[in-house]
Amino acid sequence: MTNATLTTDLTAISQNWQALDALTRCETAAVVKADAYGLGLEQVACHLAATGARIFFVALASEGAALRRALGGDAEIYVFAGHMRGDTDLIRDNGLTPLLNSPEQLTRHQTNLADHAYGLQLDTGMNRLGLEPEDWLALDHGAISPTLVMSHLACADDPDHPMNRQQLACFNELTEGLGYRRSLSATGGILLGGDYHFDLTRPGIGLYGGQPFDQARPVVTLSLPVIQTRLLQPGETVGYGNSWTAGRPTRLATVAAGYADGLLRALGNRGQLFAGGTACPLVGRVSMDLITVDVTELAQDPESLDILCPQQTVDQLADAAGTIGYEILTSLGPRYTRHTVKLGGS
Ligand SMILES: *Cc1c(COP(=O)(O)O)cnc(C)c1O
Repeated sequence: MTNATLTTDLTAISQNWQALDALTRCETAAVVKADAYGLGLEQVACHLAATGARIFFVALASEGAALRRALGGDAEIYVFAGHMRGDTDLIRDNGLTPLLNSPEQLTRHQTNLADHAYGLQLDTGMNRLGLEPEDWLALDHGAISPTLVMSHLACADDPDHPMNRQQLACFNELTEGLGYRRSLSATGGILLGGDYHFDLTRPGIGLYGGQPFDQARPVVTLSLPVIQTRLLQPGETVGYGNSWTAGRPTRLATVAAGYADGLLRALGNRGQLFAGGTACPLVGRVSMDLITVDVTELAQDPESLDILCPQQTVDQLADAAGTIGYEILTSLGPRYTRHTVKLGGS
């Protein structure tokens, strides 16, 4: 084994989708932007479609085109970036549904693809994407026919945050009684309860085993091969900048993955890896292709060490790096040997 091995459990992803779907009485879509959060667009999306997902969301039209190639025919594919200049052909040829974000996008869409389906995104306070309330209220609602009207919550991972109720009230005020199909919630919003569900939810991270869906089954394991092991005497230092010094006789393993593989540099002297159930601290800096690990506590030199495993979820690794599970997943690099399995769990 020369390459590190990233294993994605497709059954765990479909169980997470089903569990999130079971929390609502509305339809559940799947967000597969950024290569399905780094886990592989085609395999993840095809598996979710086989599980029952019919509606998918991506960030960019180019991602939508790749998804259409993977899924074929009848899935509804929404594009968060909307109708960007230069995307008209991709949108038309792949049957994508842009979520129009501004009056300019609406004009562009009506000019270039008058009969082609579209949705509308409203800004209810996040100030990232979407029509401002004034723009929305100025529309001639007799003349538009979006297939979806959506907005996005800024603070849904914090159930007590007043922004949640504020955005909910704003979304209701703007859309109540107009008869549109509506969507407000990603993973966090699903967990806020029925008021937030509307007609369609859009979970992403929860499908992939991440917080705030704490019932999620873990999806990813990442196992890294050990290249060599050595014995350090007390006082010897490790790696660039001599940032770690052995305080005891230390067995040190050098492991074949680094920041070029998404093991964030912030994990230097902070992360840990696992051999079976035993935690082994990452010591010294993270290099581009290598990390160094204190394996003194192990009875034998390991052949490999796990950095994502049942003992360490994406969120636990994210905490050690001072980031979030989303960034850990989407940073996982191109050099891993990737496998999918269908294990799941009960
Ligand atoms: C990424 C994204 C989602 C999915 O969010 P999760 O927190 O991963 O569930 C849903 N809606 C929008 C607009 C997004 O950008």
